Amino acid sequence: MRVPKPFPDELLLSRLIRYVTMFGMHIGDFSEKAFGSKRASVHPFLPAGIEQLATLIGENKDDIVNEQTLAPLFCLFMPRYAAQLRRMMLACEGAKAVRYSQLASFGSGETLCLKWCPLCAGNELQQLGVAYWHRSHQVPGITACPFHPVLLRRMPLVRRQRVMAGCLPEYTDRYISAEPLETRVAHFAYELLQLITCESCQLNVASAYRLRLAELGFITKHGSVRREGVIKAFIAAAEEYRAAADTLLPRHAQDYRYVSQLLDPESNRHPFRHLLFSSWLYRQPQDMLDYALPSASISAGNKRDKPRTSSNVERKCLRLLKENRSMAEVSRITGKSRCYLKRLAQLHDIPITTRPRTLTEECKQRILRFAQAGVHRSAISKRCGIGIGSVEQVISSTPGLVERRKLCHWESMRRRCRVQIIKYRNAHPEAHRKDYKSRCNAAFFWLYLNDRLWLQAVLPEPVKPAGRYA
Ligand SMILES: [Zn+2]
Repeated sequence: MRVPKPFPDELLLSRLIRYVTMFGMHIGDFSEKAFGSKRASVHPFLPAGIEQLATLIGENKDDIVNEQTLAPLFCLFMPRYAAQLRRMMLACEGAKAVRYSQLASFGSGETLCLKWCPLCAGNELQQLGVAYWHRSHQVPGITACPFHPVLLRRMPLVRRQRVMAGCLPEYTDRYISAEPLETRVAHFAYELLQLITCESCQLNVASAYRLRLAELGFITKHGSVRREGVIKAFIAAAEEYRAAADTLLPRHAQDYRYVSQLLDPESNRHPFRHLLFSSWLYRQPQDMLDYALPSASISAGNKRDKPRTSSNVERKCLRLLKENRSMAEVSRITGKSRCYLKRLAQLHDIPITTRPRTLTEECKQRILRFAQAGVHRSAISKRCGIGIGSVEQVISSTPGLVERRKLCHWESMRRRCRVQIIKYRNAHPEAHRKDYKSRCNAAFFWLYLNDRLWLQAVLPEPVKPAGRYA
């Protein structure tokens, strides 16, 4: 059986749909051949029977699980069931795999569906001749496209048989703009998936959260979490996220359990809750993985997945720390954060001396001046010689400043896009609207969604279609 090779970020189910569409195969016959039963039902993002299928199509079973399903995400956030989930997905145990994913018990009320972005579908139809189902669009709770600021469309899966010929995303020019936060969480999920696909991770996510919260000043000196402060700041930041059937948002302003449960290393929580929380804590998923330390309790079964402890970078960090080099120097050589190094030194009983830096009133005023001017947080951190966590803390604790900075960024984006369009117009005065769309794609769509009146006024008049006999 020659199943088409996967496109980037393509779901296994999507490849199978393309296969039956291309070869016009009877679905029952296909299911029997691929999964050993005419009535086999393929889960959209946690399919089972992968070992048998991989043998049939001559591919590596682990690559399929890691690259074309959402198993890595569930295994990362639900370490207790990770080994069983993988085992059931490799065997033909679809119902058990879904049970280990805990999806039913999260009570998110989601009916199974396939999600797609109309703009991605349009681009793919144009470039590849076929649109396909993206893995990153299927993450439960994710409502926007990571690449375009639009909401995903949904197609409920009502029939048992999911490998249906021709069932592929369609292009439509009707779409709804997504809030920046929705796109940001979607992009965070996409990037995280890319990272954990390349390298199988068994990480203690809860400890990574605590380290970052400590940096942001949300941990007391006795090691307790300032839950009230965390939930208040988190809810304020998550307000933009629109509630849908499968988005597990905090229920109310005092929903302390929402955060406590995520900070409990033993608990297994819905991946979306982790994504929403971690994308608030970290600018990018790589930061979270750098902070996360391997969990000792989750090495059940899977010998293929080596924890990150044994990585060369870590050994190098340890060697340099033992040589009594300064934290700044080790951080510069290895590219690891100071927080990571501090934790590593503590774990291996390496004494380190750090010079505590205090946030003086003068320094705070300086940070505020830069922040008001819209300077990037990392640039402020460098100029003031203070950690980025402290900078973020000052910014988030000043009323109205976050909104002002967002507005600054929005204005700056608008200026950038406008300039691009005007430059193109000056260089190509005879260009048509479609040329703008293809040559200045990102700027065109950003302005189309955010500054349409200006765009319409600047673009050339649309060309009237000439009739056949005109
Ligand atoms: Zn898209």
